[in-house]
This record gives sequence, structure tokens and C-alpha cells, in this order.
Amino acid sequence: MGMKADIRLIDDNGLRIDGRLPNQLRPIRMEVGVVKRADGSAYVEWGGNKIMAAVYGPREAYPKHVQDPNRAIVRARYNMASFSVDERKRPGPDRRSIELSKVISEALTSVIFVEKFPRTAIDVYIEVLQADAGTRVAGITAASLALADAGIPMRDLIVGCAAGKVDGVVVLDLNKEEDNYGEADVPMAILPRTGEIALLQMDGDMTYEELTNAMEMAMEAAREIYRMEIEALKGRYGGDVNE
Ligand code: ADP
Repeated sequence: MGMKADIRLIDDNGLRIDGRLPNQLRPIRMEVGVVKRADGSAYVEWGGNKIMAAVYGPREAYPKHVQDPNRAIVRARYNMASFSVDERKRPGPDRRSIELSKVISEALTSVIFVEKFPRTAIDVYIEVLQADAGTRVAGITAASLALADAGIPMRDLIVGCAAGKVDGVVVLDLNKEEDNYGEADVPMAILPRTGEIALLQMDGDMTYEELTNAMEMAMEAAREIYRMEIEALKGRYGGDVNE
């Protein structure tokens, strides 16, 4: 949520700068099983985002002192490639990616049956190859697909989706300009079947009523993204997916 430049984000017809309606998602494409050596993997294109997720595990956790005798530990690592943004990003972890890795790990832990795999680690690598706002939610979506591809038992597939506010209007799935110049961005991770929320963050300001609208908009979209996840998994496993 940067300084408002003199650009309008919503036009006279109520459309956004990329022509979308307030409650419209960017185009999304998903594919599972994209790399050979991981136990599970997925690739997601979401608007201008291109994200790869790969999963290893559950396997015995090392170093040993990190093992939990009661459950698997889930270690997500969110990483942005140097070439993923306009200005070359300095490689390696920074404050932001460390925070995102932590909150994504927690969200994924809440859906995986971790107690089935004591002393193990499940490693989830999220590689952002191209970024255009909303990478954490697209990354969570890719991670969920990669976990399913790895055959890791989960309570349900998890869906990432953001909503926010630009030019005073509540909108779904902010793009880069909207993220930069809008008033609020609320990334969420959702379990669409139960309506549970596994992650909710907020950058910027909105009223309680606007936040409620944004959450409803994201919940609705999450059901659509969930169907895309099922389709992507069916594409690989020929219909052998529990719905
Ligand atoms: P998210 O990608 O989950 O929306 P942010 O709100 O922190 O996370 O970032 C919004 C967008 O800003 C990113 O998707 C990316 O396009 C851009 N961005 C983030 N970090 C950097 C960086 N270090 N250098 C350049 N652009 C960045």
C-alpha cells in the first residue's frame, strides 16, 4: 500500500485497470507433477505470477533436535527468484520471505494430518519465478497441489486468495498496481468446504464492513479456485480424486 499517485484504479464504468470487475479473478492455470525428483510438485500461473512448488517428505527430520515425537514438522520456504521482479531482487532470504515462509508453514500445518508422521519433516519449496502481487496466496495454492500430488493426507485442499480495497471499492485478487496504489490488501488461505480460514493478514486500512465484504468475496472465489485444483489433480490422476 504505497502512496497514491494520480492514477485512477477504477474507471467510470466501475472497471479496474486490467478491465476486470471488482469481484473477478485474474486468469489462473494450474498443473501438477511438473518436476520428476520431488515427491510432489505443481506449477501455477495466476495473472502475472508464475510459481512452482515442490514437496519432499514426510521423511526423517534432520537435524535430529528439530524432530517432534508427536508430529511432522512442516517447513515451507518461500523464495523469490532474482529475475522475478522489475529490479533484480537480491538473492537469498530477507525479512519478508522469512515472514512469509513462517505464516505459510503454519497455514499448511493446520490442514496436514501431521500427527500421522511423528519425527518427520515435510519440506515445501515455493519458488516465485515471476511476481505480480498475490504471490503468497498463489504460492499457498501451488503448495496445496504439490502436497496432494505427494500423497500427503490433508483435511482438505487449501486455497489462497486475496481481496482488498482500491479507490474506495472492495475488490478481489489485487494486481501489482492495485497493490501498490490501493488502500488495503487482505491475503487469505481458505478451506472452502468448511469455510475455515487458515491465514489472514492485512496491509492497509479498511472498515469492518469492507473487511467483511472482502472476506465474503474471497470465500466465493475460493470455491471456484478449489474446483480448479480438483480439475488439475483429476487431469493427472484420471478422476481418482476424492471430492
Ligand atoms: P504478495 O506477493 O503476497 O502480494 P507483497 O504484498 O509483499 O506480497 O508484495 C506484492 C508484490 O510486490 C509482489 O508480488 C511483487 O510483485 C512485489 N515485490 C515484493 N517484494 C519485492 C522486492 N523485493 N522487489 C521488487 N518487488 C517486490
